[in-house]
Amino acid sequence: MTVLVLGGAGYIGSHMVDRLVDQQTDVAVVDNLVKGHRAAVRPEARFYEGDVRDKEFMRSVFKKENIDAVVHFAAFSIVPESMEKPLDYFDNNTAGLINVLEVMNEFDVKQIVFSSTAATYGTPESVPIKETDKQEPINPYGESKLMMEKIMHWSDLAYGIKFVALRYFNVAGAKADGSIGEDHGPETHLVPIVLQVANGQRDTLKIFGTDYDTPDGTNVRDYVHVVDLADAHILALKYLAEGNESNAFNLGSATGFSNRQILEAARKATGKEIPAEDAPRRPGDPDTLVADSSKARDILGWKPQYDDIEKIIATAWKWHSTHPNGYNDK
Ligand code: NAD
Repeated sequence: MTVLVLGGAGYIGSHMVDRLVDQQTDVAVVDNLVKGHRAAVRPEARFYEGDVRDKEFMRSVFKKENIDAVVHFAAFSIVPESMEKPLDYFDNNTAGLINVLEVMNEFDVKQIVFSSTAATYGTPESVPIKETDKQEPINPYGESKLMMEKIMHWSDLAYGIKFVALRYFNVAGAKADGSIGEDHGPETHLVPIVLQVANGQRDTLKIFGTDYDTPDGTNVRDYVHVVDLADAHILALKYLAEGNESNAFNLGSATGFSNRQILEAARKATGKEIPAEDAPRRPGDPDTLVADSSKARDILGWKPQYDDIEKIIATAWKWHSTHPNGYNDK
């Protein structure tokens, strides 16, 4: 079986490629390296540098490779940037997917596992969020991903391209040996930002809002370890290979952690003081975002191995403390 990983040089994609290679699966990667890192990709995977929106390039990859299934991580994903440049998001994410599906259809490849996001739900009416809850995004990033889910739905009906949409909540951590990890430019995720403070690369951690309706007043979010997330994709590939119908699953740990709890866990995991200061709320941050992931557990048989936030942060610290400048390639 050959799996084509789109965006395989990115944070989550590189961990997916790593797990697939470890399981002896044949892997090809497409990435334009706009955000990703060549050094993050295992040498066993064949690497094609190019853009998923470039149809001739994508055709050339599908001609060379005997692809059975596609895993799609290639997207822009910074919420505030999407508010300023919505068209970039609809072009790269939504139009990019149309191109991918057209080429898949031409080459009779009928299975795709797709990175969707909790941002498709917008502001939840209740938590934990279930897959059947209403999807009303409040930013162009979430909207671009919801459109992608809908495009895949209609492509399944018309062309029989089966999909699994995996709606991630917050992803954190790194491969346990610290050889690959998170290197986003700019960094917007809480865990790497806290660890940059621990590393002395930022002066202080700002905690935005301390009067939310949560036990300690700070936002509560659901964190999944990146390797557990990659394993969910492998189960989704198996689900599609077994001939099952298209489906969508939440991937979260089901346990929420507040921003203050993340700070305390990072202080323990790193042994560093990590200065922090309270700051005003940011617009658009819901009190709590926690997933109901029971569907992925029941149907895909997903069993996340990391249930302890301190352990998740410890793996991230192994990467950040040994690679303070990430892959150092930008
Ligand atoms: P990332 O930026 O590290 O990885 C995305 C990769 O795709 C990068 O290597 C980038 O160079 C590549 N890429 C982007 N546009 C491309 C294009 N047009 N053609 C070819 N390659 C392209 O991001 P990530 O954190 O690994 O996220 C991966 C996916 O997961 C994204 O689709 C994102 O929306 C989704 N997601 C991430 C999180 C999270 O917490 N990191 C949460 C929810 C959803």
